[in-house]
Amino acid sequence: MEILKERIIEDGVAVGTEILKVDSFLNHQIDVELFEKIGEEFSRRFADIGKDGVDKIVTVEASGIAVAAFASRYFGYPPVVFAKKELPSTMTEDYYFSEVFSFTKKKVSSIKLAKKFLTKGERVIIIDDFLAHGQAACGLANLIDQAGAELLGVGIVIEKEFQGGGKKLKDRGIRLESLAVVEKIENGHIIFK
Ligand code: 5GP
Repeated sequence: MEILKERIIEDGVAVGTEILKVDSFLNHQIDVELFEKIGEEFSRRFADIGKDGVDKIVTVEASGIAVAAFASRYFGYPPVVFAKKELPSTMTEDYYFSEVFSFTKKKVSSIKLAKKFLTKGERVIIIDDFLAHGQAACGLANLIDQAGAELLGVGIVIEKEFQGGGKKLKDRGIRLESLAVVEKIENGHIIFK
């Protein structure tokens, strides 16, 4: 997605050789117009599924939520369900959970999703902002497996290919659509595949 890559080059900041800071349009401040185009591009990438072929979009809080919500508009408005990282006192019903190591926060968290919001046979796509080591995406795929739902694919805004998450998903037989694929970060330069 050229417009996204251009924006990453323009406003993205490389932090060392591993982290990409894009808080001016994706992770803190949101460029709503760009998010609309991102949502539309996801629907184009998954066009073979059909506009009404997705029952739920699954993501994880926090940055995935807005991306998933915009994607929903272009998939015929299926509900977006986001896994929670903390257990709120209001979450009294049964939930699925999976352990996820956060590479940016350097801690393990258990992501949780109420059973009532994901059921057997539902056709699901995962949408998230970044794919790095694939921990978050694999954790979400585990929740979907526990529910007996069908994972149609994973849509990612920015994949950092060098951290191996894409390979992990493909090895699990999971379809991956990434809108921008970063091959490496070198001397402060972001190099796309
Ligand atoms: P993974 O679980 O694939 O290792 O990492 C994915 C999650 O970590 C994303 O949901 C994102 O929140 C965060 N993340 C990983 N790498 C980056 C990065 O370079 N920049 C930002 N802003 N977040 C990242």
